[in-house]
Amino acid sequence: MPLFTTDALVLRTYQLGEADCIVVFLTRDRGKKRGVANGARRTKSRFGGGLEPLTLARLAYYERERRDLVRLSYVDPVSSPLAARDGESLGYVSYFAELLDECAPEAEPNDTLYRLGAAVVESLRGDVPVEPLARYFEYWVLRLQGVYPSLLACGACGGDLSGGGRLDPGGDGLVCRGCAGQQGVLLSGDAVGFLRGVAGTPPGRLADIGLSELAGRELEQAHRRLLAVHLEKELRSVKVLRAMGRV
Ligand SMILES: [Zn+2]
Repeated sequence: MPLFTTDALVLRTYQLGEADCIVVFLTRDRGKKRGVANGARRTKSRFGGGLEPLTLARLAYYERERRDLVRLSYVDPVSSPLAARDGESLGYVSYFAELLDECAPEAEPNDTLYRLGAAVVESLRGDVPVEPLARYFEYWVLRLQGVYPSLLACGACGGDLSGGGRLDPGGDGLVCRGCAGQQGVLLSGDAVGFLRGVAGTPPGRLADIGLSELAGRELEQAHRRLLAVHLEKELRSVKVLRAMGRV
């Protein structure tokens, strides 16, 4: 059985019998994997707190011939979201992890997606406000999936979008005010400006861009709509955020 050692982000765990669990994790070099963590549910597990969603870890696993399920050897946490400053940030941890899980295909390397996830975990521990961080993360995840409409020009007439427009996932994407019908979510010039800003900014520098409350709400709605169309369902963790009064 070959042993692989890699940097990875833990995405979620499932119970497996009395004492074990299945861990879904995103590796830097070999995409998303599923592995059995033997004894992980025992009190004195060698995996300790390393299996919390969105833990950035150094881990090792054995791959077994003709089996999709690998076997975890160890998980050494490097950075844990549990160190996030406040309850609000922690509320978003499951959401970010679920978004990555939904968008990362099995065993298909995607270094950019991995680096995005890792950068967001680091930002959760820093002083980046969590709501702009969530909009940033959604923008990039959707863009890496190839579903984010172009911000350069109106999807219908090619005109300027600086004054805002309307985002309609089922229509022409992002269109200017002149072309907009009744479908889709209105985006102000501020919201479009934020998106253009995040396209060239690392998450740790998000505070430099600024996002008004109104523009934040517009983007939240627009992204929710894009994700629902793309994933063809609503994420479990969105329901939790809603219960917390965040959505
Ligand atoms: Zn137009």
